Amino acid sequence: MKLPGKVAIITGAATGIGQALATAFAGEGAAVAVDYVGPSGASDQTLKQIKAAGGRGIAVAADVSNPSQVAALIDETVRAFGRLDVLVNNAGIEFKHPFLEFPLEQFQKIVAVNLQGPFLCAQAAARQMVQQGAGGRIINISSVHEDLPMPTNAPYCATKGALRMLMRTLAVELAPHKITVNNIGPGAIYTPIDADVEANPAMEAALMAEIPLGRWGHPREVANLAVFLASDEAGYITGSTYFIDGGMLRQSGSL
Ligand code: NAD
Repeated sequence: MKLPGKVAIITGAATGIGQALATAFAGEGAAVAVDYVGPSGASDQTLKQIKAAGGRGIAVAADVSNPSQVAALIDETVRAFGRLDVLVNNAGIEFKHPFLEFPLEQFQKIVAVNLQGPFLCAQAAARQMVQQGAGGRIINISSVHEDLPMPTNAPYCATKGALRMLMRTLAVELAPHKITVNNIGPGAIYTPIDADVEANPAMEAALMAEIPLGRWGHPREVANLAVFLASDEAGYITGSTYFIDGGMLRQSGSL
């Protein structure tokens, strides 16, 4: 087991990558707080998978963009499991529109969830970790779009780019407390966030042509990387983004 005795919070863990992270962390011995938004049963499937993996989990409803709900998320986790060792900022959203028509309210919502959320969660988690005095791990699920432009998705790309500098700055600032901070930058991972592409064979074929390995990534593959970054073995790794994208960022087209 790679995470025995660790306590982890994973935001947005009712679906997709977050669900795979929660299940993988539990299977490696971590106790997991499953953050979610929406109806109370939304996290049931993740909790079931944690149990099946032989792990311990609790579900906590908290909107990551809301400071008091984030504070409650940390409190409930510490009350249940006694401490906090790992935060994974996974919750994220996107709305796609041509830039010239992008509604301001949707820009603000994306910034609130994808950037303010990780800021608030990292701050609250780091305060708890500093108080414990034994270091910790903060991992942000960013995207290839922290580097790669995507027309019609400007606010999403902007928040992921900002997450890169948030991570780099926090890595330096929190290093004296032995808290490491890193990003994982997934490419095309088969989850609900890409439902529009998954449902459109022409769009899907165009996307696959952009990926040297020629396939979607699986949430479990992202989770495997996160487990390593969260483990004691990764204690000297901080301040970088680790892309998991089937080679997408290195695709050079026909040249
Ligand atoms: P997803 O839609 O299944 O997961 C996003 C989760 O975030 C959902 O469970 C949603 O309920 C939750 N969420 C939304 N707003 C929230 C809020 N305010 N507070 C708490 N939770 C909230 O999609 P996913 O692909 O699993 O996405 C997870 C992360 O991975 C996101 O940050 C996304 O940007 C990133 N990512 C995904 C891909 C991909 O191809 N799937 C690629 C790159 C990056």
